[in-house]
Amino acid sequence: MALVLEGATVVDGNGSDPRDKARITITGDRIEAVGGRARAPAGQRLDLTGLTVLPGLIDLHTHLGVVEWEGNPALSPAMTAALLFDNCRRCLWSGHTTVRDVGGADGALPAVIEAGLVAGPRVLPSGPLLSQTGGHGDMTPPFTQRPAAGITGLSRPTLTCDGPEGVRLAARQAFRAGATQLKVCASGGVLSHGDNVTDCQFTVEELRAAVEEAAARGTYVTAHAHHPQAIRNGLDAGIACFEHGTLLDDQTARAMAQAGAALVPTLTIVHLLGQRWQEWGLPEEFLPRAAGLEDAMFHSIELAMAAGVTIGSGTDLRGPRQDGRGLELSLKAKVMGPMGAIVSATSASAKILRRADLGVIAPGKLADLIAVDGDPLADPEIWSDPDRIVLVVKDGVVEKDTRT
Ligand SMILES: [Zn+2]
Repeated sequence: MALVLEGATVVDGNGSDPRDKARITITGDRIEAVGGRARAPAGQRLDLTGLTVLPGLIDLHTHLGVVEWEGNPALSPAMTAALLFDNCRRCLWSGHTTVRDVGGADGALPAVIEAGLVAGPRVLPSGPLLSQTGGHGDMTPPFTQRPAAGITGLSRPTLTCDGPEGVRLAARQAFRAGATQLKVCASGGVLSHGDNVTDCQFTVEELRAAVEEAAARGTYVTAHAHHPQAIRNGLDAGIACFEHGTLLDDQTARAMAQAGAALVPTLTIVHLLGQRWQEWGLPEEFLPRAAGLEDAMFHSIELAMAAGVTIGSGTDLRGPRQDGRGLELSLKAKVMGPMGAIVSATSASAKILRRADLGVIAPGKLADLIAVDGDPLADPEIWSDPDRIVLVVKDGVVEKDTRT
């Protein structure tokens, strides 16, 4: 039986002008038709008059399973699972129907979601992110031996490896755990102990080993990279996508565009860090490292836009109770405009995922759609409030419907 969405203003994700009262017909997990038919087919009909319908949002930078900062012995695997599943439900209810998890979740998570046991988005996991010893993903404090936390099959945020052969082995372990793409750390980070954001991490040869292992599986590598030199190393190695890009310069932006590499800025984390670090369990010593990064990231987005780089949407939210994921669109709208922010979080992000079946409302695409209470083109602040997302359809199934 068909599912028919009627009466809403439709924003298709491609940047086209909104269409008033375009009827969307869904059969099974696919969109069958958009507008154009005089008489609606038989089926379940939802009257969405006054609402705006868009493609399900995509978050390319999640850590759904990073529910605490460092190994907390008091946190049981059951509690970790409970907080992870709660994050999944909140993510879906915020209108995000697809995520790329870039450190933490592995193939076990999409399996339980697809089995219908947990409400959550379509998860494309990276498994543990790969980091050099002493790099952004090496969570061992400098003068103690506390091992990095994590359990394969639940949440294992990082894997430390060195040398091209070490990276190759770690990449294969990530793929064995169900990774659909790899995440590597090519620069230092804000939230790490023994490095600086301006550091380069992994040699080009090490990065290339990851790219080769990914290519052998028909997939790609995305790299944590704040600094332009780290991005240029990544480009030399054939890396397709860069996270954060905080200190991007014009020359590197143009090199990215030429290579067809994408950028995933993460405005949400730099915006929220100062407010929520205690809740996330972050050490206070990290705070000065984040100073000035939000302005720098806005500037990077301007440079990337001018160079013609594909810009995806990522939040980098972490911790328990991951709410406010839509904040990324509200912030992004300040520099890309409301429509630009929507395109970034839908069709542009689908392109980065190499998923032509996602991110657009058109016949033949997967039926991932959301309805928003209001006009996000006139008021992008709407995105910051998950309660304004009143309907979520994933794979043709109504997952959330709070309309009264
Ligand atoms: Zn991250």
